[in-house]
Amino acid sequence: MPAPSIAIIGGGPCGLILARLLECKGIDYVVYERDGNVNSNRDGGSLDIHLETGQLALRQAGLFDAFQNHARYDDMALAISDQHGKKLFELGQGRENPEIDRRELRGILLDAIPKDKIKWGHALSSATSSKGDRVVLRFANGVVASGFKLVVGADGAWSKVRPLITQATPKYTGKTYLEWVIDYSHPLYEKTAGKVGAGSLISIGSGKNIIIQRQGNQSYRAYFGLQVPEILFRNGTNDLQEVEATRRLLLSDFYVDWSEEYKDLIRQATNFRAWPLYTLSADDLGWKPVHGVTLAGDAAHLAYPGGEGVNLAMTDALELASRIAEHGIEDLNRAVQEYEADMFPRTIEKILESTVMADVMYSNDPKAFLHCIGA
Ligand SMILES: Cc1cc2nc3c(=O)[nH]c(=O)nc-3n(C[C@H](O)[C@H](O)[C@H](O)COP(=O)(O)OP(=O)(O)OC[C@H]3O[C@@H](n4cnc5c(N)ncnc54)[C@H](O)[C@@H]3O)c2cc1C
Repeated sequence: MPAPSIAIIGGGPCGLILARLLECKGIDYVVYERDGNVNSNRDGGSLDIHLETGQLALRQAGLFDAFQNHARYDDMALAISDQHGKKLFELGQGRENPEIDRRELRGILLDAIPKDKIKWGHALSSATSSKGDRVVLRFANGVVASGFKLVVGADGAWSKVRPLITQATPKYTGKTYLEWVIDYSHPLYEKTAGKVGAGSLISIGSGKNIIIQRQGNQSYRAYFGLQVPEILFRNGTNDLQEVEATRRLLLSDFYVDWSEEYKDLIRQATNFRAWPLYTLSADDLGWKPVHGVTLAGDAAHLAYPGGEGVNLAMTDALELASRIAEHGIEDLNRAVQEYEADMFPRTIEKILESTVMADVMYSNDPKAFLHCIGA
């Protein structure tokens, strides 16, 4: 059987909405996803989906109604406080950026794609091509696939498609989030719900932050934003299983000058998951088009998480699918060239904004953050 025209590597928000858009346009494709099956644990926090980017892509994919069934408009509320818990600013719910859990978004997209178009348990190990030839994909499960007219790397931060296009690799930002989920059975739940309510509370001070965000199931995710060496929470020098040791470290070395309510969060944390933050730089964008390959979403432009990542990823998918539909599968290289020429400037602007956002999130001054978001 001939290969489908387009191979999408990665079934995250970018790869799946691209698949759905191609499906709507009657263009043949296949998605290769590393996760073993549809129920694999794809955890992660709530995402705000913006009107003119993420929501537009969902509308064009015919999925806006399905999105609305899960969108949480009340969780758009945002409060900013200092490290003493004093609220400095509250942003109401009149915005157009409703929240959705990552898992719900994935479910909506998966329901909109024929099951046989997704190859689960296919972790790409390498993508190679010799001059002018089509790309050969080798997967960890032993499968080798080739013959595609276009390979789209939507495989996130550590893309295995990216080396075909650029030598750029993500760099550690010096910043890590430690995440802890507070569910209703936890003794601190009521107090947290009383303090944060709907939406998110961002507290900033002494070069650190704590973000507490309500999720779709009403639990709260707390993120402790730290500036630490890359290896501290990565290579076992501070084993996250040793929750007590991590708590002690946070209390003695990081949040010593924060108020007791924040220290209680740390004292009563039952586990920590580390998210060391890596980024590509704006200089990494602008590669010369490569025949038969392109990148989209985090694979193309991994940035500090400032609320834009998933929206940029879905916009990439929308733009790429539109160009492919316009030029047809006989002229995919033209479609890719136009897509990339549009994507570079659009994305560079957001990467630069996210860098500024990262600086103020880890500052001594919560008012700098307010200034940054125009409050
Ligand atoms: C702590 C944290 C908080 C964030 N908060 C927000 C937020 O509030 N708002 C926001 O907009 N963005 C946020 N982001 C960023 C956002 O998660 C990403 O920008 C977005 O998920 C990018 O989508 P993507 O599809 O390009 O990549 P991903 O979501 O990373 O998806 C990539 C997919 O590819 C698969 N894959 C990876 N490698 C392979 C391989 N070798 N072979 C096959 N498949 C592979 C993965 O399993 C995954 O399904 C946050 C990120 C972090 C780390």
